[in-house]
Parts: sequence; structure tokens; C-alpha cells
Amino acid sequence: MANPIDTLIIGGGLSGLTVAHFLQKYKPGAKISILEKASSPGGAIRSFQHDGYLAEWGAHGFLDNVEASRELLIDTGLDKEAQKAPLDDFVRYICLNGKLNLIPQNPRKIIKSNLVSLPAKLRVLGDLWKKPHPEEQTVAAWAAYRFGASLLPFVDAVLTGTYAGDLNRLSIDAVFPGIRALELEKGSVIRGLLQKRKAAKEKQQAGPKKKLPAMISFPQGMGRLPEVLATDKDLLCSTAVVSIHKNEGGWEARTKDKSYQANSLVLALSVNLSLALLQNASGLTGEGAPLPAIPEARIVTIAMGFGETAKIPFGFGYLAPEQEKRFALGALFSTHMFPGRAPKGHVLLEALVGGRRHPEKLALDDDILVQQTYDDLKQLINLPDPPVFTQVLRPRHGIPQLEIGYPKLLAWRNRLVAENRGLHVCGFGWEGIGINDMTKSAKQIAAAISAGGAAKGEADVKGVYF
Ligand SMILES: Cc1cc2nc3c(=O)[nH]c(=O)nc-3n(C[C@H](O)[C@H](O)[C@H](O)COP(=O)(O)OP(=O)(O)OC[C@H]3O[C@@H](n4cnc5c(N)ncnc54)[C@H](O)[C@@H]3O)c2cc1C
Repeated sequence: MANPIDTLIIGGGLSGLTVAHFLQKYKPGAKISILEKASSPGGAIRSFQHDGYLAEWGAHGFLDNVEASRELLIDTGLDKEAQKAPLDDFVRYICLNGKLNLIPQNPRKIIKSNLVSLPAKLRVLGDLWKKPHPEEQTVAAWAAYRFGASLLPFVDAVLTGTYAGDLNRLSIDAVFPGIRALELEKGSVIRGLLQKRKAAKEKQQAGPKKKLPAMISFPQGMGRLPEVLATDKDLLCSTAVVSIHKNEGGWEARTKDKSYQANSLVLALSVNLSLALLQNASGLTGEGAPLPAIPEARIVTIAMGFGETAKIPFGFGYLAPEQEKRFALGALFSTHMFPGRAPKGHVLLEALVGGRRHPEKLALDDDILVQQTYDDLKQLINLPDPPVFTQVLRPRHGIPQLEIGYPKLLAWRNRLVAENRGLHVCGFGWEGIGINDMTKSAKQIAAAISAGGAAKGEADVKGVYF
């Protein structure tokens, strides 16, 4: 073959671009190609600019507390462009009983705050002697058993803000595998976290107090990240892979009119798109997937610009748990978080509607969505005048929902890549859904390819932030 490909990556979203980035770093000179179905890279990350407003179709930012993402920023020089909104300086609100309440970023401080009643505070300590149940559970059942049902609105808000999901369906084992492992190992989450903290303190000795992470974006929006990552890559856009095959020479990917042969193949796609290709692949060793597909939650973003009469409280935004029965899941106070996203004298709010529990709202016309969102928000925020700018953004990408049964699918994926040398599977949903989850597993895959093995992920205890 004239130009054999060392690694062929399917998908030019953040995951595929990050695998390529780290591979270029670890194996300079290796031939790495990316095939991307859409006409431009970036996948679920895409920014919207119009009339001086800057909003996001997908991700609004990511926390600077994961090494792989920090390395990516430094390698590309994007660390110098990044805008930071430190969690230490910003507050978040939770909507309870029809009002916005300031919520501390730290779960311990939430429990200490007057948002939680005294009996509920005492019940949280029940975690210390509740025997762990090893079988898979929903987040709601698990959290109610360990900490008491009074905390569920707060857990709901966290999962609304990340998964746009339903805590009665999401699996604790899939969503917080690190916390679950700690619980099973130490017999209690609180005990496990205290021991971890003590060990970390001993390691750091008398170092400076650790700050909370900061939210990162860019003056041009999150779209800047894939734009920069794509610049020095062999990336073919408008090229959809229709099937993959394992053969004697390694791996083959076919598009409608062409075939690509490579030593290693990386599927950097959302869970359902990888499953579709894997289910129709030929030559693979191992059993079929335990699930044909997983649910996805779709949201719609309603970007609204307001003039000087709008009085938006300081902070990142708010989240509304389901029990509040509000129209919007929450809203980001975008111009507070990242100034410069609206013309001078104006502010931008981005409200999120729909999610796993309210897909019916996605069918509403744009003008109804705008009106109902404004009606909802003005009961919570001082917005005496209607928006002067509105834009309804309907992302193509759904958010994979890691619900009950998902850990079996992940275990199957791990067996599959272990049994089929040269095959690697990462992307939206596989090891979590956030940008930091993507960069971390993409980096592990690049390291595994350059070492000639399969990536092994570890379940981290992730911080829980609103
Ligand atoms: C509405 C929304 C809001 C979000 N907000 C946040 C946030 O605030 N913070 C955060 O950290 N994360 C957020 N995320 C998640 C974040 O955007 C994802 O983790 C990340 O973008 C996933 O990247 P990926 O490359 O794995 O997948 P994708 O972005 O899905 O990229 C996969 C790529 O593969 C391409 N492709 C698909 N099929 C084929 C094929 N057959 N052949 C070739 N190419 C193919 C697609 O076109 C796409 O470009 C959000 C996601 C959504 C949808």
C-alpha cells in the first residue's frame, strides 16, 4: 500500500482530535488520519455568534482540574487565550419553592447551610453505618438510602446540569463510579472521603490550601478548541464511515466510495454511533453487545439578550430540580461567567429546556419556547422588559444517558478491545459525558497505541460541583 495509515480515527469531535493530538506527541512521524462525517470538525462543540452575542450549541466550558485537558491547552497555546471563571469567585443558585437560593459549591457546605433542615443534616450521617448494597442502583435510590431523601433535590440539580438526566434512571455505578468504589471499599462515602482527604493532606504536607477549579472557555467560544486542535491534522470532513472490518492487515473502514486500511482503529464516536458500527463489523472476536443502544437526552438552548433594565444576580446561573415543575431546566448567566458575550450595555442568558424528562418541549415552535422561557425566568430573575435578542439553538447531539444496565455495556466494550488488538473505542458517553472525561480517555488511548496495548481506565472520585 502506498500510504499505509498507522492509526485511523473515526470521528473528528473533541475525542478524535485529542487522540490525534496526543498520538502526534507520543509518536512523531506516525501517519494518523481522521475521518469526519460532518462538513467541519468539533462534533457536539460548536459556538454561535450573531449581532455581538456569543452563545453555545453544546458545551459552555470545562473545569481546569484534569491534567489531560490542561496539557492539551498548554500544548496548543490555548492556555494563553483561555477565559477563566473560578468556582471560588462565582456562586450558583438552586431553585427551591419558586425562589433562587444561593448554593455553596461544596457538598459539605450545602449540608451545613440552612438549605437543609436539622433532621436532614443528621440523616446524612446515616451514611457512616448504612451497609453498602453491591447491586447496581439508580442514583436516586442510592442517594436516598445513604444520605436521606431530603438531599434528592440537590442531587437532581447536579444531574440536570450535567446529564439533563433523570436521577430515577441514571445508574450510580455508571455516573459516579469512583464514589461508588469508595463506598464499597470503605463501607461509607463519608468515611472514604475523609480517609482520602487525610492521605492527600499528608502527601502535600503543609502546602497551600487547594483552590476550587475554574471554568474555562475562550473569547470566541468553545468552538475555538476543536478549531485549533484540527489545524495540524490529516482530517477528511464530509466523510462518513459506513462499516468497519477486522482483517489480516489490521483494520479497514469503508465510506460510501472508498476504503481505508490501518494498523489501529479508533472509534471516537458517541456510544450509540460506535455501537451501530460495532454491531455490523466483520471479523471481530467476542460476544455481541448486551444493549443495542442507550437513551439520549436532548435539550434546546434559548439564548436571550436583555438591555440595562435586567438585573441578573451575580453568579454562573441556576438549576431547577424536577419537583419545582418549571419550564426551563435552568439558565446560565453567560455574560457574568464570560464577559464580552453581548453588545455593550446588554447581558446574555442561556436557558436550557427539555432533557430526559421533557422531550415533548423540544417539539414546541421557537416563538413559544422563547415566550414560555421568558415567562418562567422573569418569575425568578428581575427581567422587567422582554429580551431584545433571542435565538433558539437546537443541538443535533443528544447527551448519552448512563442508566441502569450501562456498566454491563462498558464491561463488554472493555472485553471487546482487549480481545481485538488494534481496536480502541472512546467518545461521548463511554467513560462519562464531559469534556474532561473525553480528553482523559483520549489521552489514555493515545498512550496505549504508542505502547502497543489497550487503554485501561480507572474510576476517579470526581468533585461534585453545581
Ligand atoms: C447540549 C450539550 C451540552 C454540553 N455541555 C457540556 C459542558 O458544559 N461541559 C462539558 O464538559 N461537556 C459538555 N457537553 C459534552 C461535550 O460536548 C462532549 O463530551 C464532547 O463534545 C464529546 O466529544 P466526542 O468527540 O466524544 O463526540 P462528538 O462531539 O459526538 O463527536 C463525534 C464526531 O464523530 C462524527 N461522526 C459520527 N459518525 C461518524 C461516522 N460514521 N463517520 C465519520 N464521522 C462520524 C460526528 O459528526 C462528530 O463530529 C455537552 C454536550 C451537549 C450535547
